[in-house]
Amino acid sequence: MIRELSGEENALFNEYIDKTRAYFQSSGGAPKAYVHSYGCQQNVSDGEKIQGILQQMGCDFVNSPEDAGIIILNTCAVRENAEDKVFGNVGALKKLKEQNRGLVIAVGGCMVQQKHIAEKLKASYPFVDIVFGTHTMHELPRMLYEKLTGGKGCVNIPDADGMICEGIPTRRNSDIKAYVPIMYGCDNFCSYCVVPYVRGRERSRKAEAIEKEVSELITQGYKEIMLLGQNVNSYGKNIGGTDFAGLLKRLDGFEGEYKLSFMTSHPKDCTKELIDVIADSRHIERHIHLPVQSGSDRILKLMNRRYTVEKYLELVNYAKSRIPDLSLTTDIIVGFPGEGYEDFCQTLELMKKVRYDMAYTFIYSKREGTRAAEMDDPVSDKEKGIWMRELLEVQGQIGLENYQRYIGSTLTVLCEGHDKNKPEYLTGHSRQSIIVRFAGEESLIGSFVKVKVTKAMPWAVEGELIN
Ligand code: SF4
Repeated sequence: MIRELSGEENALFNEYIDKTRAYFQSSGGAPKAYVHSYGCQQNVSDGEKIQGILQQMGCDFVNSPEDAGIIILNTCAVRENAEDKVFGNVGALKKLKEQNRGLVIAVGGCMVQQKHIAEKLKASYPFVDIVFGTHTMHELPRMLYEKLTGGKGCVNIPDADGMICEGIPTRRNSDIKAYVPIMYGCDNFCSYCVVPYVRGRERSRKAEAIEKEVSELITQGYKEIMLLGQNVNSYGKNIGGTDFAGLLKRLDGFEGEYKLSFMTSHPKDCTKELIDVIADSRHIERHIHLPVQSGSDRILKLMNRRYTVEKYLELVNYAKSRIPDLSLTTDIIVGFPGEGYEDFCQTLELMKKVRYDMAYTFIYSKREGTRAAEMDDPVSDKEKGIWMRELLEVQGQIGLENYQRYIGSTLTVLCEGHDKNKPEYLTGHSRQSIIVRFAGEESLIGSFVKVKVTKAMPWAVEGELIN
């Protein structure tokens, strides 16, 4: 359920923020806070809410835990190696706690929503003061205040289907791009995925609330609004009324210079109507991230994806026919339990047919509590690694050939900042969501520019600014 905080809850939420701020003022000032979010954009967006709460309490933010008086790790459960990394990072905080007994350490997010993880944290990391689940954001001020003023700390993990509240303050990490969650949770139960267990069932926000937030962000000068959900294509199903195509159409209607993007789509819920809306829009990216996961119908069935390769290709062909400058990207899992080399070759075939601009590829990693975790997985990691390299080689070549088609053409690019690898260059994404690198003045950051493409690489293009 998604709802506004009730009058009483809102009063309590604000009361604890005020009490904490007053406590800081009377005890030498607010400590610096370090908030780190792991994983997907949804989690980053949750982290921005955690920061919003701390900011209202008077905290400034630092980039390293060593400099902080409050440390909050907002964890992700999607990949097992991410979990190992979190435990490593939490373990490293023990020394800081020994040096500063007043340090408050909180660990929240998807990963701790799993019972065995919360129990492990409690038993093996007693210096962690607060453990909180994915739906306790509105209680964070109280939990922090109680711990700061001498309380014992707490573990607060409500049901994954728990309430999500509108109106929590947000401190956005960027002045250019804003994340706007439109729904939470997932109903799909893909057999390898832990999300429905840790984020609960699908809950959509009201279209009016989203419309208001997006309109305000555009007025504030944000140039890209990214709509977030585990499966944005099924937006609205649980509340009736506007569906995702309808929502996009409404959000495309504002005046001003902005770009609308969204993450992530599920092929079984991606409709031709949605593709038509993208094709006819003024502001929506010409880019669809459409995770296929496998090119084998047998494996798709084991994954519980509920589409076939034929249906997927039908959708892709329709999208390409309606949006000629469309960029398609995907996710692929290599070495799913029971996958043989023949299945893998079908994935390669599919990649050659679709010709993705980019594929995010992962070797299957077992997630406790999912159906796939119980399946036989006889293929060795070494062999999966060989398949993966073959796949990367094929995709690298396709990506390069795809990007070469832009040489000589002019792209509209949202300039987002300096290029990390070549800081003398600026970088941004085109309306097709392609990374574009170019030389230009710093003052262009945050604006849309025209760039003529001169060079293609497998993951990006380079070009010259056109005045
Ligand atoms: S659609 Fe499948 S992979 Fe995506 S979040 Fe839902 S269950 Fe996980």
